[in-house]
Amino acid sequence: MATQRDYYEVLGVGRTASSEDLKKAYRKLAIQFHPDKNPGDKKAEENFKELSQAYEILSDPQKRQAYDQFGHAAAGAGPGGPGGFDFQGFGGGGASINDIFGDIFGDIFGAQAGGRARGGRRRAGGRPGDDLRTSVDITFEEAAFGAEKVITILKSVRCETCTGSGAKPGTQPETCAQCGGRGEVSFQQGFFAITRPCQRCNGAGQTIPSPCVGCGGSGQTKKRSQIAVKIPAGVDTGQRLKLTGEGEAGERGGPPGDLYVSVNILPHDFFTRDEFDVICEVPVTFVHAALGAEIEVPTLEGKVKIKIPSGTQSHKIFRLKNKGLARLGSYGRGDQLVRIIVEVPTKLTAEQRDLLKKFSESGADAAHPMHHSFFEKVKNLFG
Ligand SMILES: [Zn+2]
Ligand SMILES: [Zn+2]
Repeated sequence: MATQRDYYEVLGVGRTASSEDLKKAYRKLAIQFHPDKNPGDKKAEENFKELSQAYEILSDPQKRQAYDQFGHAAAGAGPGGPGGFDFQGFGGGGASINDIFGDIFGDIFGAQAGGRARGGRRRAGGRPGDDLRTSVDITFEEAAFGAEKVITILKSVRCETCTGSGAKPGTQPETCAQCGGRGEVSFQQGFFAITRPCQRCNGAGQTIPSPCVGCGGSGQTKKRSQIAVKIPAGVDTGQRLKLTGEGEAGERGGPPGDLYVSVNILPHDFFTRDEFDVICEVPVTFVHAALGAEIEVPTLEGKVKIKIPSGTQSHKIFRLKNKGLARLGSYGRGDQLVRIIVEVPTKLTAEQRDLLKKFSESGADAAHPMHHSFFEKVKNLFG
């Protein structure tokens, strides 16, 4: 990996910057470098990744302290690190600028950036739709290189008959007579003024004199929907993608919820992973291990030949640089680790048996240094 710039330098702030300063600096630069604003600009994309990484570390007091003390070495806890990076938003996925500003900077931008008032204040009008959760199975290769998957979910969508209003076509919802359209009613109880959602309109502020027959007045119907999900390269099992606005439709024109998709990687015939490294165990015959050989090894991109030297022991690891998975949230790829498993023959003919006996009697046992030193030590210990 290229030498990493100092995270404070990346954000253009001093080492004593407050978390408020960090946010401000990040916000400014994130807008400047956001991929949506710089389509196809590799440099801006790199700047944005670097920026996201720097902010990820410095905005977390614990990680920041570790970084201050140990520098980048401590920042193994960065995006894609062992901490498990929940990339709701960026990292090459299909995140729009709204996702990023709505979710990561929700506290800075407030509701207007996310397009949706979250929690707290209740407003008259359609209730927001619920969030949905689902999962998607992907192959090891799709996890390595990224993919686009289409998932099918049953969710509520806006009713087409009434376009979501809940009112029979040709009629209009009316302002609720109980709450005057506020969606809530207040009453006095002792010293306290208590406010609760209006029961007549369920907080919507409107009532529907002639409900739509398509949806019974709710403004939504259930529909099997197909949604394209962009799987970012390097993703791991258990990580979650967020698709803003793909959840349940809101009631009577309320904003839709979000859809969370957990990723599940299916087992592979050859490969397992350790973070971004691919691990592949390759059985070789004991003769090849002893004499050395050229063996064929599967990689994510097809077969490659590697030479193993004579005297290769079982569990010896050979590293194929940059043949691993894309480093999600960072740069480049991991490696492939080829672990040699020396296989001893299981069925021998009488002739083969004889050959091996002769082999042993020829003094070959002395050519097993591990075996020898082990039993030397046992002898020294117990006599
Ligand atoms: Zn009401
Ligand atoms: Zn309807």
